[in-house]
Amino acid sequence: MITVETYQTHVETSGIDKRFKYEISRFPGGEKLLDCFQCGTCTSDCPIARFSDTYRPRQIIRMAQLGLRERVLSSETIWLCASCFTCSDHCPRGVEVADVMRVLRNLTTQQGHIPRIFRELGSSILESGYAYRIPKRRIDRREALGLPLLPKCNPESLAKSLRNVRFRQFLSEKGR
Ligand code: SF4
Ligand code: SF4
Repeated sequence: MITVETYQTHVETSGIDKRFKYEISRFPGGEKLLDCFQCGTCTSDCPIARFSDTYRPRQIIRMAQLGLRERVLSSETIWLCASCFTCSDHCPRGVEVADVMRVLRNLTTQQGHIPRIFRELGSSILESGYAYRIPKRRIDRREALGLPLLPKCNPESLAKSLRNVRFRQFLSEKGR
């Protein structure tokens, strides 16, 4: 069996999808994936990589270039990106790293792979308009302290806006 070396592991060539890089490149923001020359600037400047032992944007870009589709799309690390765009701003090759992460999350979402915490956040947005369900006792406490009311949300209007992208269906489909 032929293998290729990627970082500390070996990958069987049978697990490589040669079309994966072109698939990513077709989405807005993914066009320059192949221009990455692995300088590592994205990882060294990424605020999430600084505090994570596993999140390495450069490594994800390389795995995507190599066609490790399932490994990339099944990885929860692609959900750690905070979309701060530091990597995109600093990349000497103009790779839109933050956008590539979005493309990867969209692709894995289409397969029903959304980590539970993001399903919960999405459900909360649909129901309350807030990503985090604010407990009533906290709202009461704000009032007691004389703090201004929180801005009102319109979950119905939000749900209507998100209908076209099948947001609710993605949240309810079985995933990991
Ligand atoms: S900064 Fe750009 S060229 Fe360097 S590793 Fe990251 S994506 Fe590749
Ligand atoms: S956009 Fe994501 S990958 Fe890029 S620097 Fe910010 S957190 Fe890191």
